[in-house]
Amino acid sequence: MPSLVDYAPIVGDSTIEELRGLGKRMAGQRVAMVNSTRVGGGVAEILDRMVPLLEELGLRVRWEVVEGSEPFYRVTKAFHNALHGKQEAIAPEMFQLFLDVGRQNAERLVLDDDIVFIHDPQPITLVEQRRPGQTSRWIWRCHVDVSRPHQGVWKFLQPFILKFDAAVYSSSAFAQQMPMEQVLIAPSIDPLSDKNRDLAPEEIDAILKRLGIPRDRPIITQVSRFDYLKDPLGVIEAFRRVRKSIKCRLVLAGGPASDDPEGEEVLNRAREAAKGNPDIHLLMLPPNSNIEINALQRTSAVVVQKSIREGFGLTVSEALWKARPVVASAVGGIPLQVKHRYSGLLVHSVEGAAYAIKQLLSNPDYAKRLGENGREHVRQNFLLTRHLRDYLLMFLTLGVAEEMVYLNGH
Ligand code: UDP
Repeated sequence: MPSLVDYAPIVGDSTIEELRGLGKRMAGQRVAMVNSTRVGGGVAEILDRMVPLLEELGLRVRWEVVEGSEPFYRVTKAFHNALHGKQEAIAPEMFQLFLDVGRQNAERLVLDDDIVFIHDPQPITLVEQRRPGQTSRWIWRCHVDVSRPHQGVWKFLQPFILKFDAAVYSSSAFAQQMPMEQVLIAPSIDPLSDKNRDLAPEEIDAILKRLGIPRDRPIITQVSRFDYLKDPLGVIEAFRRVRKSIKCRLVLAGGPASDDPEGEEVLNRAREAAKGNPDIHLLMLPPNSNIEINALQRTSAVVVQKSIREGFGLTVSEALWKARPVVASAVGGIPLQVKHRYSGLLVHSVEGAAYAIKQLLSNPDYAKRLGENGREHVRQNFLLTRHLRDYLLMFLTLGVAEEMVYLNGH
């Protein structure tokens, strides 16, 4: 596991010193992070890297995961889609199931830590256990774009949200007007994780061989859970258009997330759409295929993220950090990462994606420049060290450390 000092060559000594200084003020604080899966998706990806570094800074952190059966995850996936503004039929029993599973989790998870960090809606009802007089600060970390939510789901969740001290969003465009503290903190990637660290060319060769991806032609890649909102079918359609004039391959790499039951169905639809085309490679990767994803992203001539809706879209920063030219939809947090024609190309349709991919494949110098700009943009804005600093500053702003000092009688 990398430790903080290992990040200094990437972000500079002063960043690490600043983190240590902030860490001293928070030392001994107990933090509970609660989300809905340990693997799969961006939230688990971030927590996996953030928790050990917060501990190195002196905080006492535990990472808890709410438990539920498949029907519960069907409900939470429907809520997730609905919050993103997708049309979803939400039946009254779904709300009831959500509450019931929330209550079961509350019996198991007693949250009396100094800071309780609830990620996304799945664990949100745990805030019900909050009692007057408790000193814990409760933070709702919303990774979803809730600017145009399904009204029924939003109204149902709102009374829970209002019980938190603060709501954290990835972008101002995602937020809702609410009376509590509203904080903007963008997510991040870890430049030293297996997902993002440098790989030797031999390592990449061996992995691509193992995955059965020939390297005879430029590779276009999208890495995503198999989810309609990531639009794998749109990517296949765009690829077919590109392939008419340029010989290339498409890799769609995805994996299961235990809180996403839709994956199998979407994968089958993608298989159907890709049928009979030997240049399209669909990879269902096991959890923790970090080096494999790293190698795929690094080998790609173009990385695509053609989402229809998006939270932040970590895969975009992952590709940019590898100096890859990116073609991505202008949705969710993607425009924070891709500045059009500077650190990638933003698109709005299948036709637009096909056109942008062709443009990059036929202009390697331009593509290279976009990738290099993208890497710098990520270094400045979307690395884990910046994210840690923002969280520590938020904890301090919410008065957690001051209260501890007071309670300790200093
Ligand atoms: N990811 C992965 N394996 C897969 C598909 C995705 O490890 O098969 C990772 C991907 O590299 C990224 C995260 O899952 O780190 C997805 O985060 P993002 O914000 O792009 O999307 P989300 O899945 O959270 O909507």
